Amino acid sequence: MASWGVISMELKRFWQKQIPVLLLLLLLLLPMGSALAAGHHNFVDYDIKVTLSDDCNYLRGTERILWTNPGQTPVSEIYLHLYPNAFREGSSFLNESKRLRRGVHLSASGYGYMELSQVRAEGRILGWEFVQPDDGNEQDKTLVRVSLPRELALGETIAMDVEFVVKLPSVFARMGRHGSFVMAGQWFPKVAAYETAGVRGRPKDGWNVHQYHANTEFYANFASYRVTINVPRTHTVAATGELVEGPRVIGHERQYVFQAQKVHDFAWAADNNFRERQSLFSSATQPEVLIQLYLQPEHEYLVSHYVQAARATLQRLSQWLAPYPYSTLTIVCPRAGATGAGGMEYPTLVTGWDAAAHDPGIICRVLVHEIIHQYFYGLVATNEVGEAWLDEGFTSYLEDKIMADAFNQQLSTATEATSILAPEPLVQEGWKYSSNHAYQANAYLRGKLILHEIERLIGWEQMQTALQTYCNRYLYGHPCTADWQQVLAEVTGKSWSAFFDYYVYGAGMQDYGIDDVVTSGLHTILKLSGPREERELVLRLHYADGTSKELSWNPATSDEVALQHHVPLVSVELDPMPYQVLLDNNRSNNRYQVSMSNWLPLWLTQLLQLFMGLFGW
Ligand SMILES: [Zn+2]
Repeated sequence: MASWGVISMELKRFWQKQIPVLLLLLLLLLPMGSALAAGHHNFVDYDIKVTLSDDCNYLRGTERILWTNPGQTPVSEIYLHLYPNAFREGSSFLNESKRLRRGVHLSASGYGYMELSQVRAEGRILGWEFVQPDDGNEQDKTLVRVSLPRELALGETIAMDVEFVVKLPSVFARMGRHGSFVMAGQWFPKVAAYETAGVRGRPKDGWNVHQYHANTEFYANFASYRVTINVPRTHTVAATGELVEGPRVIGHERQYVFQAQKVHDFAWAADNNFRERQSLFSSATQPEVLIQLYLQPEHEYLVSHYVQAARATLQRLSQWLAPYPYSTLTIVCPRAGATGAGGMEYPTLVTGWDAAAHDPGIICRVLVHEIIHQYFYGLVATNEVGEAWLDEGFTSYLEDKIMADAFNQQLSTATEATSILAPEPLVQEGWKYSSNHAYQANAYLRGKLILHEIERLIGWEQMQTALQTYCNRYLYGHPCTADWQQVLAEVTGKSWSAFFDYYVYGAGMQDYGIDDVVTSGLHTILKLSGPREERELVLRLHYADGTSKELSWNPATSDEVALQHHVPLVSVELDPMPYQVLLDNNRSNNRYQVSMSNWLPLWLTQLLQLFMGLFGW
């Protein structure tokens, strides 16, 4: 046995040799660790091969998923979304939607599903089970938990091979088939979102897993995709990313290979009657993008509207927010009747309104909206399941801005608020809203009106700086509501806590109203209510002699206004047209008709004065 002196000498020599190697390893690992922790790293990779059956009813596919643990916590199970099972009898999606969406009813003959045939990794068949973390509905098969053959430490990768079959539902909600038209969205077994500590304020690494609900959209990690698609040779394919091989005819099939990097989903569409058009776009702020249209024959005459909508949107967003970083933007028009597939966003691919629509204004607006999603859904990639307003609200707000700026189409944003019947907090999971209407009225409409309100308070210049800062800081970053609040505070140099607590985390509106008008002779007191915010609101007073007068009321300073007048007051309007208050969802209390009984003392006074004058009293 060697003496301790020799051992320690040997150990010293050993470590002296190893230290440079270890230091190098450490240096290599450090940036990887921090990039992974920040949630910016691509840690999912898909290689998918799929075939559409001749009758367009089935997709049969295999996929190899490479998944690398991005966090410090060991991972021993992986969750997969089987979205097509939303269209299977008894699913939470069908229960919640009552099989009705956008006026389309899904009959039992149109049901669809996804079968997971096999999941293998490292030479073993893996076990898996359906889970229902949200509602415990055992009929729901939209989420499975797969047990891994070993625990994955930080940076370790597992390769899983998955075989699957999809029976396409008839187009009802987003995906499915309608005649020979196929919309393949949410069509492959997809790894659920994994969040490392710090992402969206999360204290610990972990999965963010939910079933597929009628009111929720999607949330996933950025990934790279290589997708080989075989379709009947009569069909043309439009897809996310770039075409890297094909199309080539193999037997009775046509094969396409697409690739996409730094996207969090992959969608494709196929039809046998697409009319293809291409247009290149670039501007001072936007590098060249290939705009690819896949239109139905009925919409061929609208090509210029499609191209104009895409160009106008890319031009403004590249200037206001950040350049669109992908080389393609693909636009698909679904067949007439496939309404459910229309107006939807996927990375680098959007669907417009279906071919039955012929109003260029609406077709344009839908396209503008879906293309804006490329930023908030696509690039910034907020969690649409838990904070849908960060996508739909922001998208709808910028849709108003672009439609006004590029197409001179103004919406009456001030009257829109009246359709918000049930204001609810914006930070809550989509399926927890009281109804589908409440989800849309809040996530889309209340969300966008709150952003219009922020713009009213700080001006477009600061608003644009805030949006630009937010988009650039959180590019590929999955921010949450608090991150947006923080950016606003930095840009404007003030706290937004009270505002966010009331409007965003709360269900605040701006229901200003006239509660009472107390008249006594020539004196009147107006009793007013509403949020006690610093602003100047217009009160318009109408008198019996046909004259009217305007006053200003600051709700922050008082809830009463005292008036003196010489003729009877007939009515009072608070915030008359054109409305200044955007979030007033109850306009019925903004007008007060002074009743005849209120005038009596005044008439009596005047009558007495007349008699006194006549009789010389
Ligand atoms: Zn949207």
